[in-house]
Amino acid sequence: MTPQATVSNKGARRWAHGHPWIYRSDVIERPDAPAGIVPVADQRGKPLGWALWSPKSEISLRLLEANPNASIDPAWWRKRLAAAIARRDPLRAEANAFRLVHGEGDGLPSLVCDRYDRWLVVQLMSAGLEPSRGAIVDALLDLERPEGVLARNDVSLREKEGLPRAVELLVGTVPREIEVREHGVRYLAAPWDGQKTGAFLDQRENRARIGALARGRALDCFSYHGSFALHLARHASHVTALDSSAAALERARANAALNAHANIEFVEANAFDYLKQAERTGERFDTIVLDPPAFAKTKSALAAGIRGYKEINLRAMRLLAPGALLFTASCSFHLTKPLFLEMLHDAAADSGRRLALREIVGQPLDHPEILTVPETGYIKGAIVEAMD
Ligand code: SAH
Repeated sequence: MTPQATVSNKGARRWAHGHPWIYRSDVIERPDAPAGIVPVADQRGKPLGWALWSPKSEISLRLLEANPNASIDPAWWRKRLAAAIARRDPLRAEANAFRLVHGEGDGLPSLVCDRYDRWLVVQLMSAGLEPSRGAIVDALLDLERPEGVLARNDVSLREKEGLPRAVELLVGTVPREIEVREHGVRYLAAPWDGQKTGAFLDQRENRARIGALARGRALDCFSYHGSFALHLARHASHVTALDSSAAALERARANAALNAHANIEFVEANAFDYLKQAERTGERFDTIVLDPPAFAKTKSALAAGIRGYKEINLRAMRLLAPGALLFTASCSFHLTKPLFLEMLHDAAADSGRRLALREIVGQPLDHPEILTVPETGYIKGAIVEAMD
C-alpha cells in the first residue's frame, strides 16, 4: 500500500472529460493515508495529478490539480484562491457581498467562501479538504484582509464525509448581522444563523433585474429577508412580501426600514394557500416573484417537486394583470433546465393565459456553472410576460 490512489479507466475518464469527482467504486487501490491530499494514478501507473481524498465518502477523490509535478503548498493555495477572487472584481462596484469561491466552479472542490462587507464566511465540505484549513484561511486573510472569518460548517453534507457539523469562529470577530449593499439596496445578512452563509447571494443579479422592470402592484412570494421585495419596492407602487417564517419577516421589516421603503406589506402565510385564495378572489398583480426553496432536494422527490412548482406557477400566471411580469425561479439541482422549461410550459398551458417567455436567466458570475460539472449549477429563472 502507498499513499497514492489508483483509479479505474472509468474514473480516469471522468477527469479527462472535465468532472473532478471520482466515486468509491472507481478507486481500485485506496491510498494508505488519512483524509487529505493524495497523488492519483491510472491503472497503468500514469500520474494524473492530486486529489482531495475522503476515505468515508462515496465521492472518494476530488481532483485538485492536474499537474502531477505541482506541490500543493501554501503558495499553491494562495494562487488558486487569488485567481478565483480576481474573477469577482467586476462585482465590487455594485455589491459588497458576493461569493469569492464557488467550490468545483472555481477549481476548489468542496470549498465555499462568501464575502459580506468586511467579513468572510467559509464552508469546508469534504474530509479531504479539512487538513488544508490553515493554509486556506491564511491565504484568504492575506488576499482579502477580513476582520473575521466564520465557518458555517453546519451543513448536512459534512456528515457524508464523517465530519462534525458546527458553526465556528476561525479568526477575529464576526457580527450577528452584517449590512449588505447590492445594486442600490441595503439589507442585513445573518452569517451565524441565516440560511446558507447568511443570505441568498446567488439571486443578487436576478433581484436587480426584475427590480428594474417592476411596477404597479407587486407580490414577492417566498420573500425570506425581503430580498426581492426591497428591489421591487423601488419601482412598484405597493409590494406584498410573503413568507411562512415569522423570523424571516421580522428581518424583512428591518430591511424595509433600512431602505426607508414604506410601500411594503408583510404577510406571514403559506404561499400555496395565499395564491389559491388570491385566485379565488380575483386579485391581479403587475409584478410577481416566485423564488421558492428547493422543492426537489433529492431525485426521488423530483416528481412531487415538479407538481409543487407547477402549482405555484400556474396560480401566479392566473394572477397576472394584462402586461404583467412574472419572475420565477427554481434552485433544485434535480430540476434541470429542460425540466424547468417543461414545467413552465405545462403551467402556461393550464393557465388559460397567453404568456411570452421574455428571458431565461441563471447564476451570476460569482457562482460559475461549469458545463462539464452539472453540480455547480442549480439556479434557473425566467421572466414571463402576460400578453393579454
Ligand atoms: N427569495 C429569497 C430566498 C427565498 S428562500 C432571496 O432572494 O433571498 C425560501 C423562503 O421560502 C424561506 O424564507 C422560507 O421561510 C420560505 N418558505 C418555505 N416554504 C414556504 C411556503 N410554503 N410558503 C411561504 N414561504 C415559504
